[in-house]
Amino acid sequence: MSAALPWHQSQWDNLLSRIAQDNLPHALLLTGRRGVGKQRLALQLAARLLCTEDQPEPCGQCKGCRLILAGTHPDLKVIQPPEDKSVISVDQIRELTHYLSLTALCGGYQVVLISPADAMNVNAANSLLKTLEEPPANTLMLLMSDRPSALTATIRSRCQLISFGKPAQDIALAWLKTQQPELDANIANIALELADGAPLRAAEMVAQGGLNQRTEMLDDLEQIVAGRCDPIEIAKKWLKLGKKESLYWVYGWLVDMVRMKVVNQAPYLTNTDIAPRLSKIAAKIELSLLYKRLDQVSEALRLEDNPSLNAELLLEGVLIGWTPRR
Ligand SMILES: [Zn+2]
Repeated sequence: MSAALPWHQSQWDNLLSRIAQDNLPHALLLTGRRGVGKQRLALQLAARLLCTEDQPEPCGQCKGCRLILAGTHPDLKVIQPPEDKSVISVDQIRELTHYLSLTALCGGYQVVLISPADAMNVNAANSLLKTLEEPPANTLMLLMSDRPSALTATIRSRCQLISFGKPAQDIALAWLKTQQPELDANIANIALELADGAPLRAAEMVAQGGLNQRTEMLDDLEQIVAGRCDPIEIAKKWLKLGKKESLYWVYGWLVDMVRMKVVNQAPYLTNTDIAPRLSKIAAKIELSLLYKRLDQVSEALRLEDNPSLNAELLLEGVLIGWTPRR
């Protein structure tokens, strides 16, 4: 089991001292930007509670730790949206309540991870309230959210908050280097920028070829702007690459294009490596239209979790506007 992430150390030390004082709350809400490692800390805390060795840190070797690493510990329950869904349903929370009514199989703690907690629909959240109010003994509920404001106040008020800010850039870059020693320093910088400073997200982006995908998508957009390809075909292609990621890239480009338009030689850009290409596209578009597109993509990002909407149409809607007028 790995040590706490460098930017988690103070929160982790605090949790360890609370465990030592037998003063751990029954519900914690872990918040912070996507990719800052909330899940990692939650699993580490679960391991600390379920590790059978009496050590300050989870040992990583005992049966408890090994079951956690394998994702099969009977006293660790992970609640997340089912595959292909974006919502945690009331049935899942009811099942959880039943699970918690049973004694811990290994006789110690029962730990529950709810991730992301803001994926619970209203009924699910209401159903969870009772458990948060009167938790069974030796239960720890760990709720995680990138968007805590999307949680009801009643849920938030029943959890103690642990929030993670943006890690310092030098610390984040040093950690990235330990993960991917071969990574070029410039690319590491760009990945971290694109990941909004979240190191785990940056590492994932690099590992999954997200940066290449972004360049390929920018090629596509340039082709659309030049009137050389059909936005509907591109929407189909991008859908395969990932709807949310696609929208997210376009959003980032638009923000940079607006920055370039508003300030000459904008001091702060996210997509520094492709800035000249974005600038070329931006030069052909009125600022008001850029703002309009930004609104459109924000709206699409807001709606993209809605299962009743056709994702392909959503992407088409975003792309069609870029075709040159005839
Ligand atoms: Zn252990």
